[in-house]
Amino acid sequence: MADRQPQEHQCRAPSLLQSSSSSSSSSPTTNHINVFWDDGMLDHDTGEGVFDTGMDPGFLDVLEKHPENSDRIRNMLSILKRGPISPFISWHPSRPALLSELLSFHTREYVDSLLEADKNGGKTFCSGTFLNRGSWNAALLAAGTALSAIKYILDGHAKMCYALVRPPGHHAQPTQADGYCFLNNAGLAVQYALDSGCKKIAVIDIDVHYGNGTAEGFYHSDKVLTISLHMNHGSWGTSHPQSGTTNELGEGAGFGYNLNVPLPNGTGDKGYKYAMTKVVAPAVRKFDPDMMVFVVGQDSSAFDPNGRLCLTMKGYRDIGQIVRNLANDHCYGRILIVQEGGYHITYSAYCLHATLEVTAQSKMELLQW
Ligand SMILES: [Zn+2]
Repeated sequence: MADRQPQEHQCRAPSLLQSSSSSSSSSPTTNHINVFWDDGMLDHDTGEGVFDTGMDPGFLDVLEKHPENSDRIRNMLSILKRGPISPFISWHPSRPALLSELLSFHTREYVDSLLEADKNGGKTFCSGTFLNRGSWNAALLAAGTALSAIKYILDGHAKMCYALVRPPGHHAQPTQADGYCFLNNAGLAVQYALDSGCKKIAVIDIDVHYGNGTAEGFYHSDKVLTISLHMNHGSWGTSHPQSGTTNELGEGAGFGYNLNVPLPNGTGDKGYKYAMTKVVAPAVRKFDPDMMVFVVGQDSSAFDPNGRLCLTMKGYRDIGQIVRNLANDHCYGRILIVQEGGYHITYSAYCLHATLEVTAQSKMELLQW
């Protein structure tokens, strides 16, 4: 890890109802969600092939777009712009992360390997994880989007921000890419918050896969409680050596500060609610964080090609409400929400909407599907 420069921001309670200094069209309120986004993230072209392999052996007439394609995000954008939640959203521009900022989470050697891959026109880092032309700029924008969003909260402008990002980040470890991820967007935001004075940050990751990169980044820290609920998929090779089992608890000062909740196939809404209520919530309450980072993936949904855990919109809504309650009780209501996976082109967008609905549900009609 590189030396970290202290930031000028403090981890303090936000002032309510402050007006925005960004280009958003309306002033954020406590019921508003501040969404950070940049169209440049659509330029990450993951190609097509047989599922996520990028290969075409020539046997099929119809190939498939890589699951982590821009269409999924286009629909998330459109449902937030046209769905019932749209009046409660303020849109904010983003920026690419600086290389120096990446070194707060990733090693210089790894960042150099990404730069080299981009300079050479692309590289396959591991299974399904392709850095092509346009990918690096998108990755920098994704990291910068998460950093802009956490800064907005830390500066006291808002309680809730959502970083709509791709490529995703939670599998990216300090030293290597993994699972469609190059830079750990949520991890960079967490480190920024720590460097800004936050003392204890809870990360709740509900993507269907183990948030191994984020866990790895803070594995030795007692300042970050990393919690991941995921399919019990185990390790998937050298890019993902972590198992995601309950005995990965952290090391050194961080022992006891990584909580893995592997779930059986078909867990569904009731199973998730039980895990959130009986395992996650008590752990967060005991930790008593001053900031929460909610890492969301809609690949936990019932229709996702990459997951088998069968959440519906109601399940996402229930989880969102539990997280919202925890944030209200411990963090002045402050939550950074960071996008990860979610590969069903249409239902992922609806599940995202359901997750975010709870932030403004007193004033809006829930989206039924
Ligand atoms: Zn995932």
